Formats: sequence, structure tokens, C-alpha cells
Amino acid sequence: MGLRLPLRRSASFTPDHPALMEVPGPTALKVEANVLVMGADNVGKSEFIYSHNLTVDGREILLHIWDVPNSQEQTEESSSEEKRIQWADSFVLVYSICDRASFNILPLKIQFIKATKEGQSQEKVPIVIVGNKRDLHHQRVVSSEEGRLLALSLDCGFYEVSAAEAYHGALMVFHGLAERIPDTKLALKKGTRIRGIVKTMSAVFARKRTDSL
Ligand code: GDP
Ligand code: MG
Repeated sequence: MGLRLPLRRSASFTPDHPALMEVPGPTALKVEANVLVMGADNVGKSEFIYSHNLTVDGREILLHIWDVPNSQEQTEESSSEEKRIQWADSFVLVYSICDRASFNILPLKIQFIKATKEGQSQEKVPIVIVGNKRDLHHQRVVSSEEGRLLALSLDCGFYEVSAAEAYHGALMVFHGLAERIPDTKLALKKGTRIRGIVKTMSAVFARKRTDSL
């Protein structure tokens, strides 16, 4: 049973929120990653906060998922958005295939994420673009091809899903995202224990560490 995160749709940013730092006792081998879900209002972002525990490549991954209302993003100081981006290891950018404006805002957001993250490390930022509401094909205004091309040009993953209609859509997105997160970023978030845990991970999964902490 995964950690049930007290994420609310209107949650404000508190980097030291105890729930986000909590480590589930007996399942210490679980690795974790922080995911920020971004996008315009009403595109279906909230449907993604329910999938947070999955197994990829033999690794059980607990995802801490943060969904920020776009309206909040626009009224708050840009430093808050920057802090959230710092907190996250990976990003899900959602638009609706029925809402052209929600698609058009993505390039700037992604460029901002990259500018914020890539200063810190040479590693590629794990980003997945999601065209949601695929079931509403009669209202489609953004083609699959456009979505795929945008993702290709910005070096992101791409999926079209119906998050509200089928649970596996969100799961697929998180699997795709998890595959993009380097092993070195997957660690328990408690600073003092990271070293030990990363060692344990490589022992259990026989994975080569590419970086030292
Ligand atoms: P948010 O503002 O981005 O968090 O959007 P919400 O998750 O609140 O979803 C906005 C509306 O879109 C809600 O009424 C959802 O039920 C609906 N919705 C979300 N995903 C889908 C989908 O895949 N298909 C359809 N038809 N509606 C969806
Ligand atoms: Mg929401």
C-alpha cells in the first residue's frame, strides 16, 4: 500500500511539508521521485495525482505528485514557481486536445523548466507532454502530429490519453516519465539516508551508478 499523499487541488507550496518528506517504514527499498504536473486550467491535471506508486524495470517507485492550478501560478510570485521546479525531478505537461490555448502555452513553460533545471546539472530534464481528453475526438483542435512534433523538438516524451476515462492512461504517462529519470535522481528524499539507500538500490537491482553523491 503506497503512501497516501494529502494533495489538495489548491495546496500551496510548502517545500518542507512533513508528508512530502515522510518515508514509509517497512518499505525502505522503494525509491522516490518528485513530479510536477503543469498545464492550463481544466485540461485534466487533477486526474494524474492518483497514480503514484508503480514498478518500472523492477524498481518500485513512489512518485510525489504536485498539481498546481494554472490560475494560482499566474497570480503568485515567479519565485514560487521556481521553487516548485527546483523541488521536482520530473515534469508532466498536460494540455487538452480540445483546447488550442492550452497547447500553445507549453513551449514557454518547458523552456522555463529547462532554463531553471539545466543550469544545475548537465543531465536532461525528464519531461513528458500529455495530450489529454483523447476521447473527445469530435472536439479535437490539436492533432496528434502537432503534439508529437512539439515533444520531438523539445526532447520530451509524448502521450495522448483520456485520463478521466481510463486509469491506464495516467499509468502509461508515469511509466514513460520514470524511464526518463536517471537512477541517481531516484532516492529517498531524506538527505542523511540517501547515500545508504543508493547503495542498497544498486545492490538489489544490480544497477550501475553513473554518478556519485
Ligand atoms: P485541471 O484544472 O487541469 O486540474 O482539470 P481537472 O482534472 O479538474 O479536469 C477538468 C475537467 O475535465 C473535469 O470535468 C474532468 O472530469 C474533465 N476531464 C479530465 N480528463 C478528461 C478526459 O480524459 N476526458 C474527458 N472527456 N474529460 C476529462
Ligand atoms: Mg486541478
